[in-house]
Amino acid sequence: MEDSKYKSFLIKYAEIGVKGKNRYLFEEALVKQIKYALKKVEGEFAVRRTDGRIYVDALSDFDFEETAGSLQKVFGISGICPVVHVEDEGFEKLCEDVVRYIGDVYPDRDKTFKVAARRARKNYPLDSMQLNVELGGVILDAYPEMRVDVHQPDILLHVEIRDKIYLYSEIIPGPGGMPVGTGGKAMLLLSGGIDSPVAGWMIAKRGVKIDAVYFHAPPYTSERAKQKVVDLAKKVADYAGPVWLHVVNFTDIQLYIYDKCPHDELTIIMRRYMMRIAEHIAQETECLGLITGESIGQVASQTMASLAATNEVCTMPVYRPLIGFDKMEIVDIAEKIDSYETSILPYEDCCTIFVAKHPVTKPNLNIIKRHEQNLQEGIDELVEKALSTKEVIVVQA
Ligand code: ATP
Ligand code: MG
Repeated sequence: MEDSKYKSFLIKYAEIGVKGKNRYLFEEALVKQIKYALKKVEGEFAVRRTDGRIYVDALSDFDFEETAGSLQKVFGISGICPVVHVEDEGFEKLCEDVVRYIGDVYPDRDKTFKVAARRARKNYPLDSMQLNVELGGVILDAYPEMRVDVHQPDILLHVEIRDKIYLYSEIIPGPGGMPVGTGGKAMLLLSGGIDSPVAGWMIAKRGVKIDAVYFHAPPYTSERAKQKVVDLAKKVADYAGPVWLHVVNFTDIQLYIYDKCPHDELTIIMRRYMMRIAEHIAQETECLGLITGESIGQVASQTMASLAATNEVCTMPVYRPLIGFDKMEIVDIAEKIDSYETSILPYEDCCTIFVAKHPVTKPNLNIIKRHEQNLQEGIDELVEKALSTKEVIVVQA
């Protein structure tokens, strides 16, 4: 069917337990995110809520693929149905419209179907049952190769009688999840790797708004490495709305640790300072948790003992949605959300320069804490300076 025939999209959403007041908040957040996603799409749209449904109406010409693609990045949407509007000019005309719709949308008509009519405007002369029967008959007359199947039809044709008449049968899958904004906010530790953007995406999918913090170490890490992180934040922002990215200059802290602590413990101590600083920013920005891309056993700093040592400095919950994932499973999601190509660009991230040849894999917390004592003299000042010089970049979809 010619794209321009579609005049609106019916947005389907499904989450068990979304009832009462929660339902209202869910829908409100969903509408907000839909509007946000459509801002960058060419064309004019109105998003409206009627009878417990959400419609996106096109008020101008629009690109079908681009519009549907943007809606496919709005968490909370389970399906997107492109809707054809026809004028109500009598039942005869409706029969013609329905036959044309089937003819246009389904070039291959060796299919079963069922009509599901809904009379939302009660003064229409035929009721839903009559519409189902009559329109079913009209379709069979026009296309004898089609058959009716009321249980598992290939095509479920919805006919909704409103001020206009809506016809739809196609469902484009949405991303599922919960609308961003219904679940509070969390701080993502975002590096230039494959894992952390995926971790942020997974938590955002549950309705959580995402802020991010990136520790960079100029001149050991380049501007291009930083730009890469901004680009990755944008991949998350494509789904989750604007991402406030806090860029913290970590160089002096890293050098200080390098100077004062055993090199095989460098990564762990550094990670502990990252978590401390991230938690500090998270508290200031009303985040309720931290998110990392850690997965058990992936590298020395992600053994159970290392994770325990890193975790020990935080009082906020730390969400690690990839904890039980294999690399391949993470890569699959990274490809799906289009972050993979950016993640594998070869720029140094700040951990790779200071890693020891043989980092401890079973850090002893008491020993780590003892060695952190070596930092006593200067670390507070350095942390304060890192916080006061941080840069905030608002990354839009
Ligand atoms: P990723 O692919 O996400 O970079 P990784 O496999 O490289 O992860 P690590 O370098 O051990 O693993 O980092 C573990 C987690 O710590 C990352 O997933 C990320 O959440 C956080 N992290 C690491 N480096 C940084 C950084 N420079 N800035 C912010 N967060 C970081
Ligand atoms: Mg990394």
